[in-house]
Amino acid sequence: MQSKLEQLKSEVLLALKSIKNKANLEELENKILGRKNGELTNIMKGLKDLTDDERKIVGQLANEAKLEIEAVLQTKKIQLSQADWQTNLEKERLDITQPALPKIEYGHFHPNTIVQNDLENLFNSMGFMVLDGSEIESDYYNFTALNIPESHPARDMQDTFYVKNHEVDSETPWVMRTQTSAMQVRALQKYGAPIRAIVPGKCFRNEATDVRHEHTFYQLEGFVVGENITFAHLKGVLETVAKHLYGEDTKVKLRPKYYPFVEPGINGEVTCFLCKGNGCRVCKNTGWLEIFGAGMIHPNVLKQGNIDPSKYQGFAFGLGLTRLVMLKYGIEDIRHLESGDLKFLKQF
Ligand SMILES: [Zn+2]
Repeated sequence: MQSKLEQLKSEVLLALKSIKNKANLEELENKILGRKNGELTNIMKGLKDLTDDERKIVGQLANEAKLEIEAVLQTKKIQLSQADWQTNLEKERLDITQPALPKIEYGHFHPNTIVQNDLENLFNSMGFMVLDGSEIESDYYNFTALNIPESHPARDMQDTFYVKNHEVDSETPWVMRTQTSAMQVRALQKYGAPIRAIVPGKCFRNEATDVRHEHTFYQLEGFVVGENITFAHLKGVLETVAKHLYGEDTKVKLRPKYYPFVEPGINGEVTCFLCKGNGCRVCKNTGWLEIFGAGMIHPNVLKQGNIDPSKYQGFAFGLGLTRLVMLKYGIEDIRHLESGDLKFLKQF
């Protein structure tokens, strides 16, 4: 029995030499001292079969062996922990001689997008869907369907860029859309009534550019069609938008104005957010800012959208998104917005 214990001790010492990590050490510990089938544990368990005298001597030897083995295992455990710590330290070492990595610059939203996202969220909350339209549009949807026939003078005010031989249909004149209203009849034809939708997006005009005119700008078109939709609903939506943009005190003033695709048509003004109606440079001393065109959708337009005007009514409004952006950020020259000039864009 004594030699068996000696053999076990030397076995442990030998095995320890090849152990490189904690998992292997635990395995060895379990093999020798494990409660269920450890080699030393089994020897201790066998003590009960010995005579009293033998048990006294062997028991003591076995206890000594156990203490010795536990001690060497513990020492190895501490050595391994220190080695781990050294390795981690080495991994975390900072090489201060390395040149600095270039700073990564993150982009941000264009001011147009900031204002557009804000309004999309507002209209979503009122149950409007957000539609995209194509920037190249047929003459029909851009003008004719909106009650602007070929000879109509309103076309002169919206001169744009014309596209010849468009691959979809070379017979129909195609245009760079002059207004997001071009989506109105498309949406009515596709979704029918009732409908609530907004169409934010790019529009184009053939303009001699200056601080207030640009060939590319943004609008936000909105429309609601349903049974019993009245002018009061239109006013409610416009007031909600105005208060969202410029605060609860904002007042809305509606004046009659002619647009071919609405009847009656109005022009919407709101109290100037800067001077609160007292008159300043931004509102040209009037105290009011013109930001909407709107009205009840003309029956001819509803008919083009396959909607029965005797059953359904609707209203439509257009916001000059670009104008809202310029007012919000105090931008004096519209041409900055499409310039791609980073010195300008980084301010937002
Ligand atoms: Zn003002």
